[in-house]
Amino acid sequence: MNLAKTSNPVPSKRARTKIVATVGPASVDKLQELLLAGVDVFRVNMAHGTREQHQTIVDSIRSLSKSLDIPVGILIDLAGPKIRLGELFADPIDCVVGTHYTFTTADEATCATELTTNYAPLIEELSVDDSVMLADGTVEMKVIEESETTVTCRVVEGGILRSRQGVNLPGVNLSVPALTVQDRDNAVWATSVDADFISLSFVRAPLELLELKALLEEQGSQAMVIAKVEKREAMQRLDEIVLASDAVMVARGDLGVEIDVAETPIAQKRIIQKCHDYSRPVIVATQMLDSMQHSTRPTRAEVTDVANAILDGADACMLSGETAIGTYPVETVRMMNRIMLNTEATLHDRKPITKALLEEGVQPVTSAIVYGAARVAEQLGAKLVVVATRTGNTARIKANQKDFIPTVGVSRDEKTLRQLCLYWGIIPLGGMPIGDGQELRNAVEQWGKQQGLLIRGDSIVFVTSSTFGPLGHDMVFVHEIED
Ligand code: PEP
Repeated sequence: MNLAKTSNPVPSKRARTKIVATVGPASVDKLQELLLAGVDVFRVNMAHGTREQHQTIVDSIRSLSKSLDIPVGILIDLAGPKIRLGELFADPIDCVVGTHYTFTTADEATCATELTTNYAPLIEELSVDDSVMLADGTVEMKVIEESETTVTCRVVEGGILRSRQGVNLPGVNLSVPALTVQDRDNAVWATSVDADFISLSFVRAPLELLELKALLEEQGSQAMVIAKVEKREAMQRLDEIVLASDAVMVARGDLGVEIDVAETPIAQKRIIQKCHDYSRPVIVATQMLDSMQHSTRPTRAEVTDVANAILDGADACMLSGETAIGTYPVETVRMMNRIMLNTEATLHDRKPITKALLEEGVQPVTSAIVYGAARVAEQLGAKLVVVATRTGNTARIKANQKDFIPTVGVSRDEKTLRQLCLYWGIIPLGGMPIGDGQELRNAVEQWGKQQGLLIRGDSIVFVTSSTFGPLGHDMVFVHEIED
């Protein structure tokens, strides 16, 4: 690693809570500015754009990461079975309460009150009294009549409809799998570009995540699988879904339509708590700073929403339209980072965790050592903790403790470094000599001094693997800076 060239990260200026930013037309030419403003992971939304555009975005992020010598995560978001309206006969339509619309199996609408979708079984799967939510839940209809080829609905909540807007059917058991043919194809492409995270939309059952994991394994990918929780069925099987995933997203856009929008704040808290229990990083997504798509300043409610997500314990917050199509993508990221830094400052005095958490899938010795290392660092007033990690698991455990001593994650594996970008408070540091203790100590010390984090007399706590005994468990080593 060229230490002089490394601009990332200045720990005191970057929040410990990570920022995921969706790339779109508004940001594709601003990746460097976004990265330096605080983005840790870029999301490529497969629901929009072409394969060529996605490939160009991934190539640009990788080459930027290389030239700046900063690990950057890439999240490929699979669209899942998103139901969309077809072309409207008259676009837009002003749906008035009490009026009737008919969904047909035809390819095209033949009049303004006929609606088509991309979901062939819609007519078969809807029953009288079911709700049909359209355009992000702004328009609601109730099914009043069904036939072999049509379903007629009455508008109960009026609003404007446009072609290709989303359709949600809360409470309807859809036959379509979460991992569609298109998703499989996109997942294979994602492995070919060595994606760090792959998220699956509209997950209802743990098996769907396991299917995606099996597909990734077949392709030799180690991408982390993120479950997007946005269906009532997922809320009902939350423990199993969190356990079957590597990380979780509170996808509030669709969740707020699939369940009563008034239930979403409590659902968010429940999901975050489960993720803590099982030590899975959790991202809170959608409309976090929505008004900044058109304004340089967010609303007070949005600022409070970001702060509350952090107080709830989110590992990351995500920006969607704000960075994909908004007018102020860089300003939005800066604002989010500022809110995060201010909110995190209030967490310093939080009661420390009093016991090593037993993490599913992680050696109890590793959990205990990581917990112990944090206590050692606290007791000594260490200025830096260094976690050497092969798969990222040790860093994940450290992140879940959410303490404030700056922590760097080092690894031989570049993919692991990029995945650390999602872990709360972990600064991924590439190019470190892992094998030799003395070289690692020297390199970290040099980096810490350059960052203004370390001076003579300071201590660094290392958590590294050990060759001390036959099982090679982790060990804790304290290094004091002498000159
Ligand atoms: C959401 O629904 O909140 C979400 C993140 O998914 P998408 O942006 O794909 O709708």
